[in-house]
Amino acid sequence: MEVKEIYCSTCKKKLGTYNIKYFSDDRLNKIISYNHTQCIREGHSLIILRP
Ligand SMILES: [Zn+2]
Repeated sequence: MEVKEIYCSTCKKKLGTYNIKYFSDDRLNKIISYNHTQCIREGHSLIILRP
């Protein structure tokens, strides 16, 4: 399975792994803004990785 990961480079932490078949970048950006509000609020840089 091919995956993408949401990674916070400020916390140096992986926040989630998503199957690329079902999650477009748009969808992942929405997940970031809804589910990782604490990092967003603190101004962390969240990135989408393709390992
Ligand atoms: Zn963070």
